[in-house]
Formats: sequence, structure tokens, C-alpha cells
Amino acid sequence: MNRNKEYYEKTFRMLEAHHKWFSESIPLIASENIPSPAVRETLISDLGNRYAEGWPGERVYAGCTYIDQIELIAIEEAKKLFQCEFVDVRPVSGVCANLAIYTAFTSPGDYMMCLSIPSGGHISMGKAELGGTAGAVHGLKTEYFQFDYDEMNIDVERTKNRVNELEKSGINIKLVMFGGSVLLFPHPVKELVDFFKEKGAFVCYDAAHVIGLIAGRKFQDPLREGVDAITCSTHKTLFGPQGGMILSYDKYAEKIKKAVFPGNVSNHHLHSVAGKAIAFAEALEFGEQYAAQVIKNSKALANALASKGMKVVGEKRGFTESHIVLLEITKYGLGGDLERKLEKANIICNRNLLPWDIKEGRHFANPGGLRFGVSELTRLGMREGDMDIVAELIVDVIVRNKNLDEVKTKVKEFRKDFKKIHFCFEPSRGPYEYIKVR
Ligand SMILES: *Cc1c(COP(=O)(O)O)cnc(C)c1O
Repeated sequence: MNRNKEYYEKTFRMLEAHHKWFSESIPLIASENIPSPAVRETLISDLGNRYAEGWPGERVYAGCTYIDQIELIAIEEAKKLFQCEFVDVRPVSGVCANLAIYTAFTSPGDYMMCLSIPSGGHISMGKAELGGTAGAVHGLKTEYFQFDYDEMNIDVERTKNRVNELEKSGINIKLVMFGGSVLLFPHPVKELVDFFKEKGAFVCYDAAHVIGLIAGRKFQDPLREGVDAITCSTHKTLFGPQGGMILSYDKYAEKIKKAVFPGNVSNHHLHSVAGKAIAFAEALEFGEQYAAQVIKNSKALANALASKGMKVVGEKRGFTESHIVLLEITKYGLGGDLERKLEKANIICNRNLLPWDIKEGRHFANPGGLRFGVSELTRLGMREGDMDIVAELIVDVIVRNKNLDEVKTKVKEFRKDFKKIHFCFEPSRGPYEYIKVR
């Protein structure tokens, strides 16, 4: 066969194999979810081939008659969903949304306060030395919230003291970023927002992970608690597609719009905007039920793992109030090794730094933690009772050292009961069904 045709055929074979594999797996990556067939339809539409640039009604290109209407629908829905004045659905990812906020409200050399990465912060808030977006791309300097390991949360008093100390040494915090990638419990926004605002900081909440829970009114409500803006991804606890979004107030609209375009995107992803419009309609209709079930499932998974002897982080607070369960697995091995072992049994999750890992000499390649998220399992229709089976299969691999092929067979058997997408209008195709267009 012609070499070029071989590349072509092999790519499709790999795609189909991937779909089959995931349909027989337990997907536990906390930043992932599965979109409805309706959202998938938007992603192969012609909008993915078009240019708009700018704001609906003020585009740089012709041909946007329907595109503008779709973007305005997405904006209207998001305003309803999050009860906010201003929405920008153009950021192409969560990182892009954060970068737009850095652009709009800080200058290179300014200081931002956020979570350190081991405490749950995201690389988009990272220092230049770590290659993080904030430092390496926008030249921000970062200071960290003081973190309480038992509470697995920001320590309000110690953080205030730290900020006052910094102030004495001439360092003022210009931007505050609440939120993070390991977010078990609501952050103390109410307790800190006035303190930071009195010092002249812009206060933002990075809800990349929990925006679907906020949409379902089952987590904290950062805008009502006083933040100036929320940034997020649209595909973690929300219903996809991959993308980003900023929520804020009219008084900040012009600055944010300019920072997004032309600051951080030229053409935004228009098929993804259509996907967002569909996903927000689903969230308006099913979001509350969904978020409630996600949290029931994560609590059930945490309790099941703990009752089988595993060390679940955040015990003092009841393990979790979000979609995330964090395990400390150092008794059985390290995160990287166990992540790979679980993958061989078709259990897909990710290794994660624990807040105390660096101090104990562990690093990201093989940290002390594993992070599980239940957003996707919930979308597949799983409930609390199913979490006990998921926990059992995890324990088979990590604790009981069972034969991985045997566990994989059990995983495939278990998955046979979950072949439909829930919390959507038209569950017309299987969640991992490969749709052939060519
Ligand atoms: C995932 C994540 C992001 C980045 O989102 P992308 O859509 O992957 O760019 C930003 N912030 C936090 C806290 C995240 O967890």
C-alpha cells in the first residue's frame, strides 16, 4: 500500500481502537467528561471551518449571520445559568481564559496570589521557573495562599498575615486567583474577598473544574460571594465541548473583550461555541440533577475506598464536596507506577501531587497521590451503589495486587450496564460510539 494511505488508514484504526477501549473502561480523570451526541454533532459542523474574529455584530469577516446568532444564544444561556451580567464564550480553553484575565488586569512584574501546584494550583498560574503560563507568558510573579493540610483548604488567618507581611516588604497583590485543579472543598472566598479588595486587588475564581457544579448550584457561588470574575473550562464538570469562558460584570466587559480579542485569540473556535450553546441548554435543563448526583457519587466513592482501608485525603471534612476524590497511596507504591498499573486494568485516572509531596522528596513524575473524578461516570448513569464496585476494582489493583487481565475482564463486564449518555435531550448514540463520516 502507498505510504501516505498507510498513515491515513492507521490513524483511523487508532481512533476506532481508542473509542472501543474507552467504552470498556472506567474513566476517572477529573478534568474529563463526555459530551452528548448533540454536542458532538456541532463539532463536525461547518462552523469549525469559518472565521469570525471579534464580537457578534462587529466581526472582522462576512459570513457570520448564523454564527452571530449562535454565539448570542450561548451568551444568553450562560448569563441565565450563572446569573451574571457579562459572558465571553470565545476563549478557546481554560488557560486562554486565565491569560485573558492576566492581560486585562495585570502588567508583567505584578504579583498574583494563588494556590501552589502541590496544594492544587494549576500550571496556568505557575511561576516562570516552572514554565507556568502566568510567569513564563505574562511575566507575573506569584505568592501562594497559606494552605491547611488537615482542612485541605486555604488558611484564612495565615493568608492574611502573609499578605500583610508582603505589603510591609513592598509587595502588593494585584490579582487573586481562587480555585484550582484539586478542589475538594469550597474556597473561603467570602472570608477573604473584602480583605483583598480593600488592598486594591482584582479577585478572580478559576472554576475550570467546578463550573458544572456551580451551574447546578451545588458548590459555592463565587460571583455572589464577591469575586470580580470567573474563568473556566467548559468540558470538565460542564457538558463540553473543550473550550473556555469568562463570567464577569459589565463594568469589566470592555477590558475583558479586548484582552480576549485581539489579545489572546484571533479567530475563536466557532464549532466549539455552537457546542457550548448546546451544552449550556443541557446544563439549564439537567444541571441541578447532574451536579447533585456527581457529589453523591464522589462522596460514595471516597467512603467506599476509605472503608476498604485506603487513605482518602480530606477525612476531617468528609473527604470531598466536589467531583474529586484524592488518595494518598504511598503505602502501596507511587502515583506514576499505580496510574500505569490501573490503566492496564482499563481504569483510567491520573497521578497527582499531594500538598506535602515536595517536602517529603516526591515529585510530579511519581507523586504520592492519585486523583479520581466522577463526572464522566455520572454522565454514564452511575449511582452511589456503582461506586462501591468501582472502589472494589481499584482496590483489586492497588491493594490486592490481583491479576490485571482478570480485573480488566471484570471492568469490561461492569461497563456493559452503562451504554447510554444521561442528562441530555437526545441520547441517540452510544457515549463512545465511533461516528464514521468519510
Ligand atoms: C484544567 C484547568 C485549567 C486549564 O484548562 P484548559 O481548558 O485545559 O486549558 C485552568 N485552571 C485550572 C484550575 C484547571 O484545573
